[in-house]
Amino acid sequence: KLYNQVQDLKGSIRVYCRVRPFLSAQQNYASTVDNIEDGIITINIPTKTGKGRRSFNFNKVFGPSASQAEVFSDMQPLVRSVLDGYNVCIFAYGQTGSGKTYTMTGPKEITEKSQGVNYRALSDLFLTADQRNNTFHYDVSVQMIEIYNEQVRDLLVTDGTNKRYPFSCYLKTIQNIYINSQKGLSVPDASLVPVSSTNDVIELMNLGQRNRAVGATALNDRSSRSHSCLTVHVQGRDLTSGTVLRGCMHLVDLAGSERVDKSEATGDRLKEAQHINKSLSALGDVISSLAQKNQHVPYRNSKLTQLLQDSLGGQAKTLMFVHISPEVNAIGETISTLKFAERVA
Ligand code: ADP
Ligand code: MG
Repeated sequence: KLYNQVQDLKGSIRVYCRVRPFLSAQQNYASTVDNIEDGIITINIPTKTGKGRRSFNFNKVFGPSASQAEVFSDMQPLVRSVLDGYNVCIFAYGQTGSGKTYTMTGPKEITEKSQGVNYRALSDLFLTADQRNNTFHYDVSVQMIEIYNEQVRDLLVTDGTNKRYPFSCYLKTIQNIYINSQKGLSVPDASLVPVSSTNDVIELMNLGQRNRAVGATALNDRSSRSHSCLTVHVQGRDLTSGTVLRGCMHLVDLAGSERVDKSEATGDRLKEAQHINKSLSALGDVISSLAQKNQHVPYRNSKLTQLLQDSLGGQAKTLMFVHISPEVNAIGETISTLKFAERVA
């Protein structure tokens, strides 16, 4: 189909949507999702006079019963293209509780079946690299950072002793974001850790999670109000010609997109909300101007878009993966999420 060909073009922007299932006790509640068919999702919108409906068209829509394996298998070609020297960006967007972390990482207790995109992507890269080991030698390394209130933090900092994955962790604020054209790193100051197996990556992700939790209290779970980004750098050397290919992949779990009531939020909460708002709209602006092939792309309006500049646009491949909750009381956020996605699609 022509649509699929267009989808495979370099530099194209794909938009996927996933609807989370109802959580346990809510099984019998009405869903705002009326229908899902061929990339079209139709939403029931309650109105004063009864019921309205609105459809949105994306490259792919996953319903509440889609498995993690199913979701990943659609993204696999995109992930593999990193080994061919492409830059790839995958974003999880949506209100808090809509399933972003579930898609990217998995549920609280992760089993093999419930592993998210991060784990599957890395395993797939190692597996594919191994299959090519007669012709290519690949070096893989990862960075993991968090952006909170427009400040970038290294999540893979260790405590300075020579232990590789220490349990005591601290955060370092990184000032400089610039593209290091030689190494292709947009945050050259952040720890870059070589990895050679999926287990290495799991350990690092655990370290990153522990670092992320530092400073957060039970009442103040910062993870929903910061962006986290796992970046995988791949360098492949053709064993016969000696040619070197570089690719990188950013796997981004964005801050919750919900609007905070300005009349209620004060102090830190208001400041956080303003920063999130600013960076998510900057991201939307960048992606939609890329989608429209505009000459000027406003990368410099947020740390997030500066950081990802080398992987958005040009030859890079972008996937915006939006998430929605099925509950009726989430309808406002659901519609605004779908409209955001429609704008970048
Ligand atoms: P977010 O990161 O967007 O705030 P989470 O990923 O934490 O949302 O999801 C909220 C809750 O819903 C979690 O308990 C998560 O395990 C569960 N959940 C989300 N998506 C799914 C899904 N597709 N299938 C089963 N449970 C899910
Ligand atoms: Mg989350």
